[in-house]
Amino acid sequence: MLCLAIGAWGQQAAEYNKLGIDAYDAGRYGDAIDYFEKAYEKARDNETVRRNLCNARQAQANELAKKDDFDGAIRALEVAVSVDPNNPAPLVQLGSYYLHQGLTRDAILRLEEAIEIKPGYLDAHEFLGRAYYADNDLPSARAQWEYVLETDPSRKELRERYEKALREESVEYDFKRGQSRHFRLTYPKEMNYQMRSSMLTMLERIYMDVCRKLQGAYPPGPIEVIAYGAGDFAKATQLKDYVGAVYDGKIRTPLSDADGALLEKDELRRRLTHEFVHVVVRYLVQDKAPWWLNEGLAETLSRAPGDIDAGLLRRAAEQGKAFTLSQLEGGQLNKLDRDTLRLAYTQSHATVQYLWSRYGHHRVRQLLTETAATGSAEQALVRLFRLDYDKLTRQVFDRLK
Ligand SMILES: [Zn+2]
Repeated sequence: MLCLAIGAWGQQAAEYNKLGIDAYDAGRYGDAIDYFEKAYEKARDNETVRRNLCNARQAQANELAKKDDFDGAIRALEVAVSVDPNNPAPLVQLGSYYLHQGLTRDAILRLEEAIEIKPGYLDAHEFLGRAYYADNDLPSARAQWEYVLETDPSRKELRERYEKALREESVEYDFKRGQSRHFRLTYPKEMNYQMRSSMLTMLERIYMDVCRKLQGAYPPGPIEVIAYGAGDFAKATQLKDYVGAVYDGKIRTPLSDADGALLEKDELRRRLTHEFVHVVVRYLVQDKAPWWLNEGLAETLSRAPGDIDAGLLRRAAEQGKAFTLSQLEGGQLNKLDRDTLRLAYTQSHATVQYLWSRYGHHRVRQLLTETAATGSAEQALVRLFRLDYDKLTRQVFDRLK
């Protein structure tokens, strides 16, 4: 766990660090902390010293918790977190102690921080589920636990916890619940408890998955979601019946298709995922993303690459009807007729899918923020990938051949 430091950061600091390690190894955590703090005073930027001091504080907290001194343990960990702020381990430990103390909100805050630093950290997700459960937010808790159990099905105790929560939920069916951790759901009266609950769980899962893919982008809740019964979506939004859902500051989705049949779960999830990507894009760069990047990203994260209709794109290219990316920048595109709009979406999807699979989510996220900073997606593309609009479009279409 502890590191002997190497490098040019001062003889004295190195000596204190060495003494700290000896004390730590002997289980004298108080002494170890004293030495590491002396080393830390002399070399504040040294990562090794910071991590060692953090580890010693965590060990001390662990000792205190064993003696039921959770307040002392929490104090030790708050120091640990401030010394080594990019380390998720003390945050999870701290979250679990806050939870133990019934300080649910503090627990949630610290555990969410841990996940922001290290998305997919299973222990953090499991404890976060417990904190949501404690906060009587069962759909959000289930979203966390389902994710953990899918990744690691061997967590027996968690499975029992999860099943117990399910049972309780089925008894508490007449409790009004329009809200989860990040979403506030407004729903028509014909939407029953199970549909509401499973939609909120679905939304929380989408939140987790999309935010993880767009590393570190966690828009704060509550995000408003409005679900409409048959016919009411078109009435409320005045949108054509081929528009699946919309984000206009609120996510609005119909629950049924144009014929009045209830949407399949996968289709509802796809639509909500698409719209939620717009929420995250707005959170990251307000309205500074060009249309093709915003819609292309929403399609890429809500559909499979195999959904791209390559034939449609090939025919458009042959007939000279393909768009240039400059034509796909503006926000007036939603006024296009159905077929032209479909081509615009498909081409945007293919373009972002190409960038995503070739360069990875990290670089695409960079593309978003650089576009916002420079005001030009093309400039950002050139700087990040050495691709101008023409070259990018050529490469996307070449790949279809
Ligand atoms: Zn969209």
